[in-house]
Amino acid sequence: MEKRILGRTGYEVSVIGFGGIPIQNVDKDTAIKLVEEAHKQGINFIDTARSYNDSEKLLGQALEVVGREKFYIATKSMQRTYDGVLKDLEISLKNLKVDSLDLYQFHNVSKESEMETIFSENGALKAVKEMKEKGIIKEIGVTSHSVDLLNKLIDTNEFSTIQFPYNIVENQAEEAFKKAKEKNIGILIMKPLAGGAIPKGELCLRYIMENENITLAIPGMDTIEQVKENAGVGNNPRPLAEEEIKELQNYVEELGTQFCRRCGYCAPCSVGIDIPTNFLMEGYYTRYDLKDWALSRYNGMEVNAKDCIECGDCEPRCPYDLPIIEMLKNVAKVLG
Ligand code: SF4
Ligand code: SF4
Repeated sequence: MEKRILGRTGYEVSVIGFGGIPIQNVDKDTAIKLVEEAHKQGINFIDTARSYNDSEKLLGQALEVVGREKFYIATKSMQRTYDGVLKDLEISLKNLKVDSLDLYQFHNVSKESEMETIFSENGALKAVKEMKEKGIIKEIGVTSHSVDLLNKLIDTNEFSTIQFPYNIVENQAEEAFKKAKEKNIGILIMKPLAGGAIPKGELCLRYIMENENITLAIPGMDTIEQVKENAGVGNNPRPLAEEEIKELQNYVEELGTQFCRRCGYCAPCSVGIDIPTNFLMEGYYTRYDLKDWALSRYNGMEVNAKDCIECGDCEPRCPYDLPIIEMLKNVAKVLG
């Protein structure tokens, strides 16, 4: 398995990591088999989150059998305050059955106000740094979907890693990745298959690996076949052939008029809808077998697709000319 150094953490990680969203679909025995197979295939990095339902618990049960020491373990918290993040951390440690975490990330920082809270006097960063001093957290990272915020987060110089979507359709952060690499920040890639919109997993992962700024991609996996296929990309690294690049570009063209790149330029919605997250949840519901999770996140939003008043303010701001109103109607049809 090809390995790369995860920025200033110094961790030598497999270029393919184990993304922990879909494991919430499986039972304990399957979770153990998946983690065993991941280890067998040379994967040494697992990423999960407090918000992925039972993912942490299942991974904790699997790690107890396969061996915690075989992996770098990363999780994340949506909490932004000092007290909130400490509570989340306690739950994560218990779920994962570990005494320390190799990487703890602020999950999906999506607004400047969230960043301000994290960095404030009673903010989550202070708590996480204290935990780092105690050795309970080894490294601190952050995840986001907004390039503007990503740039600001990189500029703070507080993080050892960043995690951001990247694939042949969503490559808006390439300049930010360059900057992060110059600062020796490790770069983890989420949504490597464009949220399941591109069915050619192997080609998508090879596309990502060709970018030397990237440290590792963390595709989600819940079958042994997926573990083998994804790990195969790291075990047999080879550049994309011309016809393979063309094949990927055909998908880009197909998706062009209907695929949200989560750039956030359509914000703010006049009634407060988080437009890209609505599209993302519809994708998880339709393309992955994560129906309950996607529904609960969709219904948990204060306003969602069904609240669109069709004012049209957002559409001229979308650089990809997406028919946002029609697409939201479809989300409301699918998710309610
Ligand atoms: S058209 Fe709908 S989604 Fe767009 S800004 Fe208006 S209410 Fe928000
Ligand atoms: S709808 Fe358009 S502007 Fe809004 S996040 Fe998606 S791609 Fe960006």
